[in-house]
Amino acid sequence: MGGPRKHVVMLPFMAQGHLIPFLALARRIQQRTGFTITIANTPLNIQYLTSTIAKDSSKISTPESEIRLVALPYNSVDHGLPPNTENTEALSPPQIVSLFRSSRSLEPAFRRLISDITVQEGRPPVCIVSDIFMAWTNEAAKAVGIVNISFTTGGAYGTAAYMSIWLNLPHRSLGGGIKEEFSLPGFPDSCRFHISQLHPFLRAADGTDEWSRVFQPSLSLSLASSGWLCNTVEEMEPKGREILRKVVKPTVWCIGPLIPPSMLDPSPSPGFVGRTGKEPGVSPEKCLEWLDSHPKESVLYVSFGSQNTITASRMMELAMGLEGSKKPFIWVIRPPIGFDLKAEFRPEWFPEGFEERMVETKQGLVVHKWAPQLEILCHKSTGAFLSHCGWNSITESLSQGVPIIGWPLAAEQAYNSKMLVEDMGVAVELTRGMQGSLDKEEVKRVIGVVMEKSGKGEDMRKKAVEIGELMRAAVKEEGGHKGSSVQAMDDFLSTLCP
Ligand code: UDP
Repeated sequence: MGGPRKHVVMLPFMAQGHLIPFLALARRIQQRTGFTITIANTPLNIQYLTSTIAKDSSKISTPESEIRLVALPYNSVDHGLPPNTENTEALSPPQIVSLFRSSRSLEPAFRRLISDITVQEGRPPVCIVSDIFMAWTNEAAKAVGIVNISFTTGGAYGTAAYMSIWLNLPHRSLGGGIKEEFSLPGFPDSCRFHISQLHPFLRAADGTDEWSRVFQPSLSLSLASSGWLCNTVEEMEPKGREILRKVVKPTVWCIGPLIPPSMLDPSPSPGFVGRTGKEPGVSPEKCLEWLDSHPKESVLYVSFGSQNTITASRMMELAMGLEGSKKPFIWVIRPPIGFDLKAEFRPEWFPEGFEERMVETKQGLVVHKWAPQLEILCHKSTGAFLSHCGWNSITESLSQGVPIIGWPLAAEQAYNSKMLVEDMGVAVELTRGMQGSLDKEEVKRVIGVVMEKSGKGEDMRKKAVEIGELMRAAVKEEGGHKGSSVQAMDDFLSTLCP
């Protein structure tokens, strides 16, 4: 698609798990069209994006094309948040709701950005692509007569469930009481959800509380967008795709998975994928060397994503379960709930001598705060992933045929986990929620089942490999044939180039 250079402006939500797929989407659109892309966000998040791009081995900018990053004025202190915390990673749940609420304060500067582009280029951008949590941009788009597209960085099923629950609060009975089990508008009646799959804030939500007052209007605005982009593959979650189309109404283009292209390369193990994002607690070289010393598919990778952590007591139980399983593991550890993210790591969080023993025996590589996740998942020694079921982690894992042990903690993760277990057959759920019960014996048992080279473990691995193949097929373009995600991207782009 040639023609004069057009401009797309993007606004992700302020969280690592949203910034990463937005950047990948920007790159895809940019590579396919040569459009100029501007990604706007708060100064701290622009700093994260800048350093992600700088560390990226496959550079985004080329002389004839550009991705521009624009920092909009924002001071977290003005919103009752600690200084320089305009990202969910260091915030408690009440602070996270403040962060969501504060996103609207970006609106005047965002509108100025759109009008500056319009003046400089003699025409407005062709569209705004905003996070489903930043859908107030619909009004900014309308003001200059352009379209607004919502982008969900999640999958179709998880996003549809999240939207439907927030917008309908189906766990509330007419009298206001809470139902243990319920179905969701937009979902088949047979698809039952349980109250334990709702985050405590959502469980308590009744339409009048602080969370409802932020989420309900904000998610409703996203329904006004003229189309939706979804970070999934049609063939990977056909049921989710149909349900999302029912829940959100406008056109949905499934353009995922937005993971580094080298992970979808048919050649085995790309080694360095080259995207670290943050400073890892262990170098990718050391990690790969450690993995090299273990047999094929023998290592369990444990991580709860970029924002979540677990309680100190569950951390202790998990450590005992991991050690007791006798399987090698890499565990990314963040300070437990209630401790400052920047806090020193304390020995009392682990069984006595745990970290030292893991080094001596080489059973475990305990990584503080941040690990080179992509390199780990791409390594042949990685056999399973104990994950909080964040959508990026799921797509990264399944792209490599790595089955999942689910421990969903927040957001739409419990619905992702439900789909992985019930529809895809690639996961077993260990427990759910920050307060979910956890017993070391159960940890050992589940690890045993999933890492087994026969029976259920083997079935899950086969299914995970098949999903990885579906992802590869969706992004393939060969001899005039386009995979479904390539076609969906072109269908979306063609609406911008009438
Ligand atoms: N990630 C990483 N190293 C870590 C933890 C996370 O590289 O130690 C990356 C991971 O590869 C993924 C993202 O951070 O791309 C986390 O996104 P996800 O949707 O899985 O979870 P979230 O952080 O949004 O809860």
